[in-house]
Amino acid sequence: MAETGLVAAMTAPREPFVLLEFPVPDPAPGAILVKVQLANVCGSDLHLWRGDYKPADPGGSRYRSIGHEMVGTVARLGAGVTHDSAGQPLREGDRIVYRYFYPCRQCRACLRRQTPRCLQAMRFRHAPDVWPHFNAAYGQYYYLHPGHTVFRVPENVTDEMAAPANCALAQVIYALEQAGAGLGDRIVIQGAGGVGINAIAVARELGVEQILVLDALPERLALAREFGADETLCLRDYPTPQARIERVQQLTHGWGADIVLELTGHAEAFPEGVAMLGVGGTYVVVGNICAGRTAPFDSSQLVLYGRRVLGIMWYEADSLYKALRLLSTRQDRYPFHKIVSHKFALRDINRAFVEQDAGRVHRATLLPWA
Ligand SMILES: [Zn+2]
Ligand SMILES: [Zn+2]
Repeated sequence: MAETGLVAAMTAPREPFVLLEFPVPDPAPGAILVKVQLANVCGSDLHLWRGDYKPADPGGSRYRSIGHEMVGTVARLGAGVTHDSAGQPLREGDRIVYRYFYPCRQCRACLRRQTPRCLQAMRFRHAPDVWPHFNAAYGQYYYLHPGHTVFRVPENVTDEMAAPANCALAQVIYALEQAGAGLGDRIVIQGAGGVGINAIAVARELGVEQILVLDALPERLALAREFGADETLCLRDYPTPQARIERVQQLTHGWGADIVLELTGHAEAFPEGVAMLGVGGTYVVVGNICAGRTAPFDSSQLVLYGRRVLGIMWYEADSLYKALRLLSTRQDRYPFHKIVSHKFALRDINRAFVEQDAGRVHRATLLPWA
């Protein structure tokens, strides 16, 4: 009898996930079969489940594979795979992280060194009933096609610490590098979810001088302070955009921030965040992936103050490698192990989503083998 594995698939927004069973694929030459050990519930998974983020439909199936933030072990190596993307030897049983998207290296975006925005990058995200079945995080296996970016996880980095590396941590490393964050900068982080918390550590390591973090939930701001945020602003204490903008002005000696990172997923954060910038500041939009949501914006606020706006999705291969190095070398400075807050068995995925959607869980992780 063929070996099988489970996938938790979505059928429709806010409907329960269903557990499906499929044969475990044999890796083709150059491919890797991964046994998923932990799979996180990221903010964008929640957007997709709620139905307010609508990526292209894979078509031909009532099921959709989702989940993208994870860590796994090598179950089987395809012929010819001997090393990871950093040249380290790779064997069965090794713990690995990898990009969940595949830049094609042949399109205009890839040619112009915009590989994170390759339009072909999700070409392998088929519905789960299509071979190789396991192509998203919420399943027992994950099939890595040839040409993947994959890195061995350093021994002193636990699975709980490594699981957010391939989305939250690599994402902010890339975003802050693109924004040119560095010595002497003052930065505002809108949103203290998993991505925002990681951003504090990355900003500090890049030399940022002052880090201000905004969120609606006091517990998330408490973790932000543990990560070294200089000031936290709770939306309950500063209920209007005007109050928050004024507080940021005060805390930055009347100048405003050099960089503001949007990690909330709310369109209204945009005009507010731009108004928090000083002259020549950079606004970086990462969180809002929900097309169709708008907020009124006065574009003279960019022109009159020489401000710029960057939209950032995904990251380069080296961002993920740097994420692992940071986790390995700076775990004494930042409590990375606290970012994943609750664990659920994969079969309890519906409870995990309902709890995180309600704000009672900060970042759930699913255990496919529990
Ligand atoms: Zn994510
Ligand atoms: Zn491409």
